[in-house]
Amino acid sequence: MLPYQTLQEAEFSLGRNLTFAETLWFKYSASKSDYFLYCHNTIFLFVFYTILPLPFVFIELLRSKNIDRFKIQPKIKNSFSDMMDCYKKVLVAFVCAVGPLQIFSFPVIQMIGIRTSLPLPSGWEVFWQLLAYVLLEDYSNYWLHRLLHNKWGYENIHRVHHEYTAPIGFAAPYAHWAEIIVLGLASFIGPVIVPGHMLTFWLWMILRQMEAIETHSGYDFPWSPLKFIPFYGGAVYHDYHHFVGGKSQSNFASVFTYCDTIYGTNKGYRYQREVFEKTREKLKQK
Ligand SMILES: [Zn+2]
Ligand SMILES: [Zn+2]
Repeated sequence: MLPYQTLQEAEFSLGRNLTFAETLWFKYSASKSDYFLYCHNTIFLFVFYTILPLPFVFIELLRSKNIDRFKIQPKIKNSFSDMMDCYKKVLVAFVCAVGPLQIFSFPVIQMIGIRTSLPLPSGWEVFWQLLAYVLLEDYSNYWLHRLLHNKWGYENIHRVHHEYTAPIGFAAPYAHWAEIIVLGLASFIGPVIVPGHMLTFWLWMILRQMEAIETHSGYDFPWSPLKFIPFYGGAVYHDYHHFVGGKSQSNFASVFTYCDTIYGTNKGYRYQREVFEKTREKLKQK
């Protein structure tokens, strides 16, 4: 909730006119509690999880030889009911794990100082904070994911996420509830270390979800703008991790490739990529 009653009060307090974005934020958030604003995150997670995989669902349903050129594992076909089954199971996990985690983590948000106040952060501030968040999350996710591949962790927790040896967009958050919580907490590391504005926090959570859905999409489109991001792993990179399955000791990182390169956990991938590509080419020709 903003400490101003009117736009004039806010402008007087800042000593300048509000920008267009700040005026919109004022009108939307001035009378809403910080807790209510934070809970928007749960709604965004649900809405974006539902909407973002839909283009991949349509692509999968419209499969043809042309589309198969971009399918990472073209032998695999998913029906509408297969994909909806995954969606429904994830929704249950959302209600049981993500919802309570989001709601009860509010004291942490308050403690670390995620602010809802004016002025809004500049574009550069948002950019640098998001960069810090993604690097911190990627690094911590690498080690947590690698840890989940030990015998106990895999058999009792991570096995669920690996039920999809050829992932689909809806399967990005398909995992044991304990994994959802542990990896969800990794998303908080960045905001804890570099706290920013609530809008930045919302944007971070949405971008993280977009990235996870893209890497689990099962499709590799050569025109994807994400391919221009240095060291970006992408769908083929993570698909390989699922393709190898439980025995996979390769490609643990969630976003970039450099952790796997530094710690030597993508040597197998780099060698097998050639074999993998040749197999794909042969399947496409059939
Ligand atoms: Zn794994
Ligand atoms: Zn995965």
